[in-house]
Amino acid sequence: MSVLTFKQGIHPEYHKELTKDEPLRKAKRPKEIVIPLQQHIGAPLKPIVEKGDHVKKGQKIGDTDSFVAAPVHSSVSGTVKAIEKVRTPAGQKTLSVIIEADKEDVFDDSLKSDKEIEQLSSKEIIDIIREAGIVGLGGAMFPTHVKLSVPDDKNVEYFILNGIECEPFLNVDNRMMIERSKDIVNGMKLMMKASNVKKGIIGIEDNKPRAIANMKKAVENDSNIEIKVFETKYPQGGEKMLIKATLGREVPEGGLPLDVGVIVNNVTTAIAVLEAVTEGKPLIERTITITGEGVKKPCNLYYSIGTKVKDLINEAGGFEGDPAKIILGGPMTGSAQPTIDVPTVKGTSGIIVLHKKSVAKFDPKPCIKCARCVDSCPMYLLPLKLSDLSQYEKYDKLDEYDVQSCIECGSCSYICPADRPLLDYIRIGKMEDMKLKKSSQ
Ligand code: SF4
Ligand code: SF4
Repeated sequence: MSVLTFKQGIHPEYHKELTKDEPLRKAKRPKEIVIPLQQHIGAPLKPIVEKGDHVKKGQKIGDTDSFVAAPVHSSVSGTVKAIEKVRTPAGQKTLSVIIEADKEDVFDDSLKSDKEIEQLSSKEIIDIIREAGIVGLGGAMFPTHVKLSVPDDKNVEYFILNGIECEPFLNVDNRMMIERSKDIVNGMKLMMKASNVKKGIIGIEDNKPRAIANMKKAVENDSNIEIKVFETKYPQGGEKMLIKATLGREVPEGGLPLDVGVIVNNVTTAIAVLEAVTEGKPLIERTITITGEGVKKPCNLYYSIGTKVKDLINEAGGFEGDPAKIILGGPMTGSAQPTIDVPTVKGTSGIIVLHKKSVAKFDPKPCIKCARCVDSCPMYLLPLKLSDLSQYEKYDKLDEYDVQSCIECGSCSYICPADRPLLDYIRIGKMEDMKLKKSSQ
């Protein structure tokens, strides 16, 4: 079996063994949820409920007329306790709907179509996906209906389903592929029908042998869908790296996968699409890995979106020892949290709790010009140069070094022997470069 890959990249310690054999189980129903009105890339939503309203589980509670947006729904039935600004995992205070759960758990089935699945048109599938509030569950949170709406002037040849899960520690996609392989394929077929794409590829890293075996079995009667295996390397799951390794096609600078005839989506998103179309279930539940030496029982769970991080840590048996760092998402691209009193959002795929010994110290030393950051960068950038320009506020020079092409994978910071916080400065540089571009328009 040939194994595909891209140039550059890194091999971090993966720590997947902590939860790779832990079957997915359901977390307890939360007593209270917090649903931020911005948990997608795109326009913010407006609340469509008021304090004191009773809502059903699955009822839409926030929406907008904008196309690039995904509505939000209540993941419990209960009463709206407040609508106020709450700190989210991204660190901002965002207007959110706080709901106290009742005991009934009554489900709102208004999304369910009366038609047979086979009779649904592409547009009808896309409309259901939009109404269900589905976003990319690999972490990007880009609205899925937008991705699947192919403009008339584009011809899409391949649909790539991303089962790479190259972030260390995380095992949600892996467990989904082991436990729900057929559902993933059925969800993928719905997305292929919605976007009118005929050829499908499912990409999986070679550190997931059970997932590879189960997914191969699940597509054995589908001659138009292939399983391809990739070397375990970070960031193999980045869209641009995946497309290059699979098809040899290069997404142009500032372009999209659509520009090279490809749509990429994540395996867990395929399950969300299947459940929306077949059961009328909006995106109110997802999977998460809770792991690290700082929790008693590392596990993989289905949980109600909006559950507080502290409640999910209790599901993993609570803290073990003295936690020094809590990261939401993966350790390479996730965000460290100063508090566990934050709600989960649609993109929350992991909670990683680390002890002091495993936490890199913020103790940058002078650069030794080893060029390891350059050799690791999958986008062929000069991370040291970008970081320096940003640190010394030479923001007007950043465009010359193509700062916006940085995919924020964190490989450069991880590999740097001088512990320089390269990505932190590059992120600031990207924001400042955008501001400069906007002000000159
Ligand atoms: S510069 Fe950006 S894309 Fe390159 S390694 Fe660093 S974070 Fe990744
Ligand atoms: S990896 Fe670190 S020490 Fe090496 S050149 Fe890059 S910034 Fe300097």
